[in-house]
Amino acid sequence: MAGQDLSAHVALVTGASRGIGAAVALMLAELGAAVSVNYRARADDADAVVARIKAKGGRAIAVAADVSQSAAVAGMVERIARELGPIDILVNNAGIAIVRGVDELSESDFDRTLLVNLKSAFLCTQAVLPGMRVRKWGRIVNITSGAARGAGAIGQHYNASKAGMEGLTRGYAARLVKEGITVNNVAPSLIETDMMKGRTDLARNIPLGRMGQPEEVAQAVAMVLGNEYMTGQTIILNGGMAFI
Ligand code: NAP
Repeated sequence: MAGQDLSAHVALVTGASRGIGAAVALMLAELGAAVSVNYRARADDADAVVARIKAKGGRAIAVAADVSQSAAVAGMVERIARELGPIDILVNNAGIAIVRGVDELSESDFDRTLLVNLKSAFLCTQAVLPGMRVRKWGRIVNITSGAARGAGAIGQHYNASKAGMEGLTRGYAARLVKEGITVNNVAPSLIETDMMKGRTDLARNIPLGRMGQPEEVAQAVAMVLGNEYMTGQTIILNGGMAFI
């Protein structure tokens, strides 16, 4: 994103130790933002993302927190404010994909998916919003999925969690539009990450002929950040699989 300057901003990217989140964190740092690299368990991976940012002269910290837990989210946001400054860019990216057939989906699979994919976005948004409202500037990007609107490859619980995120986005966008805060979705499908390991056969469904790359999702996130007029929308990346 040539010309975009985020050096006055502090970003939190949830689930940034790997995959799409890591690519987003690296992209935001490249554009000058100070970046908090959240993760749940893989400290070494998160530290490696931070090291890559620092090697290029950027500012970053790794922050462990299970974003489905409100106390952990509150602690994380406080620590980031202390060490980097108040968060004004939030990318709700952390997610899980428990592949299940219709009959084998358990209640605990359903609950866990809704907690990690949907409730986490609510908790993180609520935690950063008061500061954004005071400063009258904020950017929130939710990483949803083609599964919010299409069949998807994971299961109905995952579809529900991502469709729920789209609703959350529109609800917040409508209520915050006069306060300098935009809320949008970036909805990828079939991106080559650990989440899609062993599922490269699905590439045959993609008209472009290959899976997407995490960096391509990061580009879409960066695009959204520079635009105050766009809010409550969904940017879709799917290699031509559907036009919606
Ligand atoms: P991934 O490679 O599996 O990485 C998941 C990331 O989320 C990791 O950093 C992981 O942390 C973190 N995470 C998981 N549960 C967490 C929790 N409770 N609290 C904090 N962090 C947590 O996944 P990905 O493919 O990059 O997916 C990123 C997002 O894009 C997800 O929301 C996913 O649903 C969405 N998406 C992906 C695709 C795709 O094709 N890959 C398509 C559409 C949408 P640890 O490393 O510490 O475990």
